[in-house]
Amino acid sequence: MDDIKGKLKSMLRNGEIDGVLGFVEQKYPLKNYPLFAQTEDDINKLSNSLFNILNIGTYIRRIKDFKKIAVLVRGCEERTINLLCAEHQIDRDKLFLIGLPCKGALDVYTVEKEYNGKIDEIEEKDMSIVIKGNKGEKEILLNKVISSVCTSCVRKETPTVDLQTQSLNENGEDLIFPSVKEIEEKNYKDRWKFFKNQFEKCTRCYACREVCPMCYCESCFVDSNDPVWVEPGYSIEDIISFHLIKIFHMAGRCVNCGACERACPEGIRLSYLTSKITKDLIADYDYISGKTVQEKPMFGEYKLNDKGDFIL
Ligand code: SF4
Ligand code: SF4
Ligand code: SF4
Repeated sequence: MDDIKGKLKSMLRNGEIDGVLGFVEQKYPLKNYPLFAQTEDDINKLSNSLFNILNIGTYIRRIKDFKKIAVLVRGCEERTINLLCAEHQIDRDKLFLIGLPCKGALDVYTVEKEYNGKIDEIEEKDMSIVIKGNKGEKEILLNKVISSVCTSCVRKETPTVDLQTQSLNENGEDLIFPSVKEIEEKNYKDRWKFFKNQFEKCTRCYACREVCPMCYCESCFVDSNDPVWVEPGYSIEDIISFHLIKIFHMAGRCVNCGACERACPEGIRLSYLTSKITKDLIADYDYISGKTVQEKPMFGEYKLNDKGDFIL
């Protein structure tokens, strides 16, 4: 990161950019915060780590009146920005994107469950993390605590950025989506039981909506009182309606970054839904959201050989 920071400081000094958007190291409570760095001191604070559990694309639209900004992005964040540009939410000419290598993001819920105590500090190693807290020291292998979406990441590389800091390997690996397969193998009664158990925990705090870069409507259907799509108060039917309508709005627009799941205070496995749409779009339409700025979002185009077996 030091080389990149040097380059960004010089761009800031020369007036080529107004600032740099990235995450600031904050090892506990496992959530690095987004920062729009407008001084050289602030640029020094930016970091690329397992603790960057949110999606930086969410915060670009919140910066007002800028000529050009630099943004530090991982694969899923680069695709988010491509999608936001394709949907005319941001102007690609006003961004200078820097691609970062990515080892994945930590699954907060699993880390807390694995340690089962008060965490004071977490150290990141090559293949593991070391947690210190009131239960002593515990080392956990990364493959146990990385988000499930990251183990089935569709593209860690960042081929469309302005400055690369990693080599590109477009061949990728076979995508497995183990969490989706686990649910697909259940019969419909067990699937319903599983999702009902998950969504019964939902308090409708809407943190999953707030952190999602693609949930940017000024007025969300759940807040509408004319018509009322979702009643206020607690009812499992309304909770499930919220999640189903949200996921339909996400089809072809979700980058499966997992930020919604990691932000959920109840540990609800939202990635079972986001990974399912990602997997099906790849299998049925060979479609990966946000590959380029030029590509239209899924429902903005069609191919003559698209599968039509969902049409009655
Ligand atoms: S989804 Fe992929 S690019 Fe995004 S944080 Fe996870 S591993 Fe990195
Ligand atoms: S963040 Fe979790 S608890 Fe809050 S609305 Fe979303 S799923 Fe429900
Ligand atoms: S729905 Fe979740 S996984 Fe999909 S883009 Fe939004 S935050 Fe990321």
